[in-house]
Amino acid sequence: MNLRQEFPLLAQTNLTYLDSAATTQKPQTVLDEMDRAYRLCNANVHRSPHSLGREMTRRYEAARAEVAAFFGAGEGYQVVFTSGATDALNLAARSFLEGFGRPGQQVIVLLSEHHSNFVPWQQLCRRQGMALRVIPAGEDGRPDLEQLGKALTKKTCIVAAAHVTNTFGVENPVEEIIRLAHAQGVPVLLDGAQAAAHQPVDVQALGCDFYCVSSHKLYGPTGIGALIARKQWLESMPPVAFGGEMVERVAVEETRFAPLPARFEAGTPNFIGAVGFARALGWLEEQGMEQVARREQALTRLLWEEVRRIPGVVLPLERCPDAGILSFLLPPFSPYDVALLLDQQGVALREGLHCAHPLMQAMGLPQGTIRASLGIYNSEEDIERLCAALRRIASIL
Ligand code: PLP
Repeated sequence: MNLRQEFPLLAQTNLTYLDSAATTQKPQTVLDEMDRAYRLCNANVHRSPHSLGREMTRRYEAARAEVAAFFGAGEGYQVVFTSGATDALNLAARSFLEGFGRPGQQVIVLLSEHHSNFVPWQQLCRRQGMALRVIPAGEDGRPDLEQLGKALTKKTCIVAAAHVTNTFGVENPVEEIIRLAHAQGVPVLLDGAQAAAHQPVDVQALGCDFYCVSSHKLYGPTGIGALIARKQWLESMPPVAFGGEMVERVAVEETRFAPLPARFEAGTPNFIGAVGFARALGWLEEQGMEQVARREQALTRLLWEEVRRIPGVVLPLERCPDAGILSFLLPPFSPYDVALLLDQQGVALREGLHCAHPLMQAMGLPQGTIRASLGIYNSEEDIERLCAALRRIASIL
């Protein structure tokens, strides 16, 4: 599978792009689809009776159906378009706690969460007189399930966890987390931002209550994402953004809200983004998510084996990551210096605290890590180029 040529930004250069956890490059087919949508059927959705408006509405709703199909969201689930995973997580947290949270109750999150799945719960708990319970990770990077089991009580309102962590590529034991939480009648939200592009995800088979994703990490455009949620919850959750199209009737005295999903999509949505998002998912389906997962797993293993063999490299999580995200250090260089020196050699990756300050603090990593993350276009050659560049940096000493 050599897909590099399908990505204009990569096809034009010999850049080694290892920053897909931050954002992915876009295949030509996604750019074409969005270009066509702007050129041929640009009109606002769900309001104009003209053919153009009807056509764009049809495409917007077809995009919703594509997201639902891609994530195995059957009848019991609803896809709500958001501006991204952060927006989906904030929407879910705010609306769920407003609807179901009571003072004295608690929310459970994992220490390894991205700030987008940590800070909303922390801040909302504070505002609503609720407690935030944080489950630490063990040496293998996975959450301590015994602590989780003990923390789950009648006072627990929801459990929020990443499917895959953005720092060390740890796939959390989400089936087990869901089983433990559901046994106590507690719903589970999964942050799928780092999982969705790299493995097949079936929300119904997982049985999660909420699943959040960003299109731009799935080879689609920025500014669009989705909250996929069980209707059973969404139907009793209050809208948190108000405006056009999310209402059925507005009078001076009172407003009646529209049914799902419009109730949660106030204002003009990013309909061109939705079309691009759907094309990205369709294109991923053409590649076959099982095959994508197998290929990335093999590359992840190679990345881990090659990087750890470089003299001087330190791996804070020693084992091979579950997903294509490898965090490492090359002391005495700071992660920032290594990233700059790699950039000079045509290797793009991220360094720092990766929006996971609580985890980095607990692990004693004040400068964070250097993070190489894989995408569908990466090859063995990219890993060789990264390692050669790291060896050159190590040899400066
Ligand atoms: N959750 C995880 C695990 C992430 O890695 C990220 C982004 O890196 C987010 C949430 C937030 O995604 P976005 O910035 O697209 O809203």
